[in-house]
Amino acid sequence: MLESEINIIRSKRKTVTLEINEEATLVLRLPMRFPKYRIKDLIKRHKCWITRKQRQVIARPVIELDNPVEWYRKQARQVITVRVKYYADLLGLEVNKIRISNARKRWGSCSAKNNLSFTWRLILAPLEIIDYVVVHELMHIFEKNHSRRFWVRVEEYYPQYRKKRKWLKQNSHLLRV
Ligand SMILES: [Zn+2]
Repeated sequence: MLESEINIIRSKRKTVTLEINEEATLVLRLPMRFPKYRIKDLIKRHKCWITRKQRQVIARPVIELDNPVEWYRKQARQVITVRVKYYADLLGLEVNKIRISNARKRWGSCSAKNNLSFTWRLILAPLEIIDYVVVHELMHIFEKNHSRRFWVRVEEYYPQYRKKRKWLKQNSHLLRV
């Protein structure tokens, strides 16, 4: 679960509801005075449910055998575009083009003109992994290298990046159809 995936809506209501919308975002409907510290607790308690629901939203239905790649590509474009927009807004960045590639090992890239490219295979990874790759490529808009400065920036927006990097290295075989 990522903080960034929470949409909190407060209103004059007495009860709390949790839902996962079609973008796999957690939507919390809370009473006006519901204290902040209880939100964390709420999420913690429903973590399993939230993760399960989010997976369902981005899950793969039965694939038409004639062109599964096209199907994945479309899903990838949808999910990745939403995540790129989210982080770009946070960073105050304008993003040029987003390309969905067919690369096997190169999860993402950022061109000299700041066009971003992501492999559709990322759609087979958990959402947090997609987020990490998105943040990584967005940071290349500032730093076109993997210098220490670059990683400091990544960490600022994605503190758990080391774990996600490791996951990608160890699980790349899972991102195959
Ligand atoms: Zn990089």
